[in-house]
Amino acid sequence: MRWIKALLGFGKPQQTLPAVVSNPAQDSLAAIDDLSRALSTGHSAVEIGSALGNIHRLRGELDQAIRIRAALLRRSDLEPQDQARIYFELGRDYSRAGLIDRARSAFAHYRDAKGDEQALTEEMALLSVKSGDFLAASRYYHSLGMAPQAAHYLVRAAGQNNTPSDQGLILEARELYPPSPESWLESLAHTVRHQKWSEMLKVLEQGLSVIGPDLSFLLLDPLFDYDTSEIPTVIALPKEYLDKVVDIIEKQPPNLSLIHYVGCLLRAHERKEEATTWQEKALLLNAEFWPARLELLIMALPEQNMTTVFAFQLNFLLHRAQKVKRFVCRQCGLKRNQIFFCCPKCLAWHSIAFRQLFE
Ligand SMILES: [Zn+2]
Repeated sequence: MRWIKALLGFGKPQQTLPAVVSNPAQDSLAAIDDLSRALSTGHSAVEIGSALGNIHRLRGELDQAIRIRAALLRRSDLEPQDQARIYFELGRDYSRAGLIDRARSAFAHYRDAKGDEQALTEEMALLSVKSGDFLAASRYYHSLGMAPQAAHYLVRAAGQNNTPSDQGLILEARELYPPSPESWLESLAHTVRHQKWSEMLKVLEQGLSVIGPDLSFLLLDPLFDYDTSEIPTVIALPKEYLDKVVDIIEKQPPNLSLIHYVGCLLRAHERKEEATTWQEKALLLNAEFWPARLELLIMALPEQNMTTVFAFQLNFLLHRAQKVKRFVCRQCGLKRNQIFFCCPKCLAWHSIAFRQLFE
């Protein structure tokens, strides 16, 4: 699976998945909690030590954080409650440091004392992601009631095996979370890879009906190939199926990025006149939508009489413009050229949008 391979560093990155999450807000809250407890209890040395550990972690000084927890755990006057809490924070330190086994062992101490609390399940989910055990991560997220994440990691687990059962996991992901963009995208990519065009149309139509207008553009992306260049080449979609794709999109409520994708698809199949109509349709929806203007300009270019120097300069500019990052996070504005399902910057899920405006 291309997007999963991309994450693992094979070939050209296409679609990235969340970087393993570390949450500064969580670390500072943990430090503030400790300091507040120090003010209200008689165990201030332990609370202050713990807060200091959390501040070190917040600053990325994991060695110091771990050393402080170890010193606290050696204290003879440690209450069982405090001990459990220090093990939990120690587990988080190890987890942030990528020391998976030590993190597991520290969390096991915490579980012995406190049972399976939600915060622990969240950490275990994260740890499973870091260790590449996506099936376990999916189970943890499912138990936390986080269906989009549970579905996401099932699809990633499918990508690890490359076996016939992968499709089963992808369907299971869809049962957990019907609009799961990862699962629809993967099913589509599967039909494209195996050139099962009738099936591709079915998946596309079903996917579009549930995925929602914000993310529907993702489903047209597998019809392009970005492997060899920043500028997409088109996959060999037989003409009659291309017509059917156009029919399916025509039946959808007006959607800027979908319309633009159809225009690109038609141009790539050398149906310039129709491509022009679709890009103009996009501009009617939003006159500021620069990718449509760029397409129109590129299509009009061969008809222009230009001097060699002018043509050279213009081609240079157009080439640069085509390299502008295509996607943006609706939450934090991060721009990327690869599809992402969890924003690598703000960690929002499914916040990707097709970039509409030049700032
Ligand atoms: Zn973001």
